[in-house]
Amino acid sequence: MEKWGASLFGDPCGGCGFQWSLSPREAIGVVEGLPARFRGLLAGRTGFERHPDLGWTPAAYVSHVTDNLRNWAERLAGARLSGAVDVPGYDPDLVAQARHYNEIAPGAALWSLEHAVEAWAASVSAALDEGVVLRHATRGVQRAEDVARNNAHDGHHHAWDIERILRDTQPEVPPTRL
Ligand SMILES: [Zn+2]
Repeated sequence: MEKWGASLFGDPCGGCGFQWSLSPREAIGVVEGLPARFRGLLAGRTGFERHPDLGWTPAAYVSHVTDNLRNWAERLAGARLSGAVDVPGYDPDLVAQARHYNEIAPGAALWSLEHAVEAWAASVSAALDEGVVLRHATRGVQRAEDVARNNAHDGHHHAWDIERILRDTQPEVPPTRL
């Protein structure tokens, strides 16, 4: 069985400090705050900065969070609309490779994220109301509230990654307009 959530990252998360005790509604609030948070982090930066320990740029992390939200929103919708509760794992690195995350314009990545968050919040809210429970191929039972917390952590964690990238990188002049 694949480790996930607090058992994988620690509680609080050993990296970003995320606390897993938040309610599902609070988790939705975290995700709804991500577009403004990422936009703020990238303001005045190119979005293409690199960190020696990380393979992705700040804009690439935005694209990853977007695709992760879309994937899980779609799975919860599949359970709710079609009764498809058995879901496979997916490989985020293959998605990144296929979509060339590091070459996506930061403004476009942020635009995509805003739309993904809106759809995700609607899907997760409906799934919570209906008590959706997924059966994940490698993680086992994933309740809608587990998905809400996991996805909120993913966004929070990668905001921390972006902060790490930008901390050691000088802003370029003039800043790219997002
Ligand atoms: Zn974390």
